[in-house]
Amino acid sequence: MAIERTFSIIKPDATRRNLTGQINTKLEAAGLRIVAQRRIRMSREQAEAFYGVHRERPFFGSLCSFMTSGPVVVQVLEGENAVARNREVMGATNPANAAAGTIRKEFAESIEANSVHGSDSAENAQIEIAFFFAGCDVVG
Ligand code: ATP
Ligand code: MG
Repeated sequence: MAIERTFSIIKPDATRRNLTGQINTKLEAAGLRIVAQRRIRMSREQAEAFYGVHRERPFFGSLCSFMTSGPVVVQVLEGENAVARNREVMGATNPANAAAGTIRKEFAESIEANSVHGSDSAENAQIEIAFFFAGCDVVG
């Protein structure tokens, strides 16, 4: 298994409830190292560009409104099989289907306000990391 990097977002529903530390604890306990982290307020333009693949989905407008409704924490996570490991610790998109102990099972409010984002492939991770971080911001 290779050391890999993935991109993560702690979403506005979680920052609003002051859950950044509890979510980071779960990421670290899963063997993921937070090698870059910044708290930002996403612009509508950034949210629409970031979620561009979902542009045609019925929830696109609502998702972009939600993602700009409060601060988010953007992160780069590093570890063995980081993309898959992070997806595991996140749990299913819909918290009703998420396994016990996952971030979404414990913290998510709904299928939309589901507390975290994680890249779904190594290729998308590279694109998403470059969207928010310069190379010099990531310290492994
Ligand atoms: P993410 O991309 O945020 O890591 P994911 O890969 O599990 O989550 P996607 O299918 O990529 O889920 O959807 C992106 C995001 O869009 C979801 O995390 C959620 O916030 C929102 N979303 C997905 N499906 C729905 C839906 N049916 N209704 C409302 N919002 C949704
Ligand atoms: Mg996704």
